[in-house]
Amino acid sequence: MKYIIVGAVAGGASTAARLRRLDEHATILLFEKGEFISYANCGLPYYIGDVIKDRNQLFVQTAASFNQRFNIDVRVTTEVTLIDPVKKTVTAVNQLTGEVYQEGYDKLILSPGAEPLRPPLPGINSEGIFTLRNVRDTDYIKSYIQQNQVTKAVIVGAGFIGLEMAENFIDLGIDVTIIEMGNQILAPVDFPVAAIVQQHIRSKGVSLFLNSAVTGFTKDGQQVNVALKSGEVLNTDMVLLSIGVRPDTKLAVQAGLKTGAAKGIWVNEYLQTSDPDIYAVGDAIEFENPVTGQSMITYLAGPANKQGRICANNVVLGNVQKYQGSINTAIVKVFELTVGTAGTASKHLKTANIDHIVSTTHNGSHAAYYPDAKQMTIQIAFSPVDGRLLSAQIAGYDGVDKRLDILSSFIKQHKTIYDLIEFEHGYAPPYSSAKDPVNMAGFVAENILLKRLNIFYWNELGDLKPDDILIDVRREDEYLAGKIPGAINIPLDEIRTRLGEISKVKKIHIYCEAGLRGYLAQRILLQNGFSKVVNLSGGYLLWKSCVTESGLASNGVNKLINLPGESKNTQPLPMHA
Ligand code: FAD
Repeated sequence: MKYIIVGAVAGGASTAARLRRLDEHATILLFEKGEFISYANCGLPYYIGDVIKDRNQLFVQTAASFNQRFNIDVRVTTEVTLIDPVKKTVTAVNQLTGEVYQEGYDKLILSPGAEPLRPPLPGINSEGIFTLRNVRDTDYIKSYIQQNQVTKAVIVGAGFIGLEMAENFIDLGIDVTIIEMGNQILAPVDFPVAAIVQQHIRSKGVSLFLNSAVTGFTKDGQQVNVALKSGEVLNTDMVLLSIGVRPDTKLAVQAGLKTGAAKGIWVNEYLQTSDPDIYAVGDAIEFENPVTGQSMITYLAGPANKQGRICANNVVLGNVQKYQGSINTAIVKVFELTVGTAGTASKHLKTANIDHIVSTTHNGSHAAYYPDAKQMTIQIAFSPVDGRLLSAQIAGYDGVDKRLDILSSFIKQHKTIYDLIEFEHGYAPPYSSAKDPVNMAGFVAENILLKRLNIFYWNELGDLKPDDILIDVRREDEYLAGKIPGAINIPLDEIRTRLGEISKVKKIHIYCEAGLRGYLAQRILLQNGFSKVVNLSGGYLLWKSCVTESGLASNGVNKLINLPGESKNTQPLPMHA
């Protein structure tokens, strides 16, 4: 048997190694157009930021070590330019010598990855404008920073890589401005979670322009001027474009392989393309999203590596293992904050016409009485019919990764919010609370489904009728430090004695800091004859970051401002009920 693999990083190298483990006697050829194989793309931003100091640490394998360990013929700096699916050959070009040659295959595996987007804007190819995809880009960026004494950088696009680079630039002492065309950063998460992160990055001195499109670049001596649609021009030492990627389907299209609705290489559940002798994995393929049933591409290292293993099993053993799809579970460090997402965000569920309820809870990373507990916000979306969990998003300072992985595994296994309630965790004060934040998310969701808790959302406050009542049930000092306009203050502990002050016929909107005291107040009122009571999901905390951020976005303001009477502190917040 002769296997050829195109692309030798995440998906390709993983496939090659597994192929060898299953078939000791096969001929395996691994083509890579770059200089390096099996390197850590995910570590590149941290090498630029000097967190990873030794460049060699980025290389999981070299061509020589891969050959020695796996007896795989690795051909670096060699691009596969053509596939002939009838003759079952590929054409390869050695980029150093110019040699062009053909190789035949029994089975071909494509893992060409994705290409960074570079829209055809005026001046986009000027010196000082970079994308970050591979080691060559990394070396180029790092040396440019050193040789040009870069002190200002503009990052275009506020996705995972853009935000990781913002942190790493700031760590190098570089001033950062982020330009984002959307009304929020981190497109895979919903606005309320993005708003928390936006507040955090602004507090780190990052200038964030939302709803802002770049119209072009002009070179200004050693510097670059970045023109925005608003007419504003930003002068900077360098620009990093991180506006997304698209699947690299050039070879597949040329070979006549089917592409799908998401413009990736179409594969069946065995990762087999429309040609039975060609398989494909990684960023270039599309498959069915297990939550929405729609075609999707996932640009993540975990799925690419796992697909490599499954693909090799199917190639050698004959379509024995189905790929179950990916729910886009991703995590990113943004300065001190960690943000995680799994499943399909509410905004995308809406687009897919999937009915769902959203619930937001704030809890401590571990027991509040044990030092250094940090607040964590969990937003989940679930089915109103059977409680099936559809997505989870988390922002917090500690223990986010653990909760994300738990919730991701529940979503992937089609579990419900009732399973979150049953979820059993290891508890000691330094690690969690007797009721983990994951349990708490389940309890609140169950209360909502069983109509013990009626909620409303931060963006529905504008819909309040003049007759509606808005009650802040926090302590008076909290209320005086900052409140939602129009709210009256009846602290939770006084509510039973002040029932007479509240109208039984009007609709009552309640809020507290995080949601729990509002729920308790609602239970008191509902059991005392008040029938129209709703509690603000995510409480004042979520409202504050959402309102601040939506105000900034719509006014085109890029600096951190504070609501009247608000503290400027956006560090981990004290945990109030
Ligand atoms: P790649 O790993 O990109 O490999 C494709 C390879 O194919 C490339 O080396 C390319 O040169 C080669 N190739 C393409 N065409 C040809 C051809 N015709 N002939 C020969 N060779 C060819 N994911 C995460 O899950 N977590 C992270 O923290 C994370 N951080 C990232 C940070 C950065 C800076 C980048 C760029 C990506 C990050 N990713 C992260 C994404 C992750 O690296 C990718 O999802 C993953 O590498 C995709 O694997 P792949 O095999 O499809 O493509």
